[in-house]
Amino acid sequence: MKNIKVRFAPSPTGHLHIGGARTALFNYLFAKKMGGKFLLRIEDTDLARSSFESEQVIINDLKWLGIEWDEGIGAGGEHGPYRSTERIHIYKPYIDKLLNEGKAYYCYCTSEELEAERQELLAKGEMPRYMGKCRCLTEEQRKTFEIEGRKPSIRFKVPEDNIIQVDDQVRGLVEFESNGIGDFIIVKSDGIPVYNFAVVIDDCLMEISHVIRAEEHLSNTPRQILIYKALGFETPKFAHVSLILGSDRTKMSKRHGSAWVEQYRDAGYLPEAIVNFLALLGWSPGEEREIFSLQELIKRFSLERVSKNPAVFDIDKLNWMNGQYIKNTSTERITGLAIPHLIEKGYLREDVHLDEEWINKVVKTVQDELSFVGEIAGKVDIFFDDNVRPKDSEAEDMMKLDHVPDLLKVFRQKVEDAALIDEDYARSVFKEIQKETGIKGKNLFMPIRVALTGQTHGPELFEIIPILGKEKLIKRLGV
Ligand code: GLU
Repeated sequence: MKNIKVRFAPSPTGHLHIGGARTALFNYLFAKKMGGKFLLRIEDTDLARSSFESEQVIINDLKWLGIEWDEGIGAGGEHGPYRSTERIHIYKPYIDKLLNEGKAYYCYCTSEELEAERQELLAKGEMPRYMGKCRCLTEEQRKTFEIEGRKPSIRFKVPEDNIIQVDDQVRGLVEFESNGIGDFIIVKSDGIPVYNFAVVIDDCLMEISHVIRAEEHLSNTPRQILIYKALGFETPKFAHVSLILGSDRTKMSKRHGSAWVEQYRDAGYLPEAIVNFLALLGWSPGEEREIFSLQELIKRFSLERVSKNPAVFDIDKLNWMNGQYIKNTSTERITGLAIPHLIEKGYLREDVHLDEEWINKVVKTVQDELSFVGEIAGKVDIFFDDNVRPKDSEAEDMMKLDHVPDLLKVFRQKVEDAALIDEDYARSVFKEIQKETGIKGKNLFMPIRVALTGQTHGPELFEIIPILGKEKLIKRLGV
């Protein structure tokens, strides 16, 4: 058996979709588990839609997720270059071989002719496919077309009456009839080979042992197998991973909210949470537990436990999982991620020195409640807005109680007199006030909480008071 080697081969035509990230992750986990290699190749044969910017976005997102590759773009290796458009000269002899052996031919049909054929087949209720008009052109007919200035494409001659079997590692045996395929284009009229051709040459020359990719490529697989066979190449093993569906059970897309890795990063999801979540989308570790580090995932991963059924993207589960990771990481890290959100909200200013130690304390009060870091702006307003007013009727009613003005006066005086306002002080000052005034429990804490924050709920007062500090406390307590 060949050494284990897998690849992720994105087309750089946009952002890294959550589904693409999962494909990359499954390949990575499989390679690491099996002691094999993981390769990154860029399939940019669609010139109109591919861009270098998109390639960069995909690479950054993979790196952010911690999915690293051993060979390919940026990592080097002996089978490069690793971008399809830089491999045109490598494809050429294989195309010539197919042409010379009569396994491929030039096709001069115009798009209008092809469309007319399509419509004709559709009208007859047949599957639209190329019916082989240029299969047996004479040299003379070819010359006439050339003189007319027609630029030919190259089509693969699909053998008739073949059953093409895909022994899929996830889906089992899947069969396709060659008669339904029709001779397909392998090189476009601009001379650029299409994906279905390039992928075969690349996977073969790069010694890929397993092609693990999205289910949507299953229908491409019989075409690719025909090319493998025509060139006498050994086929790799295929594993097609099911779709990811949104909560309404249609294919996950932008309509379902964030579909790109980048959007999750920007919202303040942690990469290890995304990796953990993606691993469980369509693969099961076979145990109840849900939180797994990358190393634990590698240890447990197998293609046998990848499900044939589509996976449903459950955002509530992701939020829960991300919350677990946020809770268990350092506050400093969350602070770093929170700062841009606080700047965006206008709570902090980019051009003013940031007191990270203070921000850290603020973040700590809500860290355990966050599903994603971006939520923070809505949870820490009490620390930034000194213009405090009761935020609801419960808070208003609390401030109307008879004892409140005196209580606030006493508390204000204590704050003014304090040399140091830390958590111990905050705890002891309430005991003192209780002793001196006899006010206790809710009647003691609530008015002060509302006076300081405007609300009847929120982080512990003992935490809030030292974070606000003397100046803000006095400002908020009024005269
Ligand atoms: N370039 C293809 C895509 O982005 C990948 C095809 C493959 O993995 O064979 O969908």
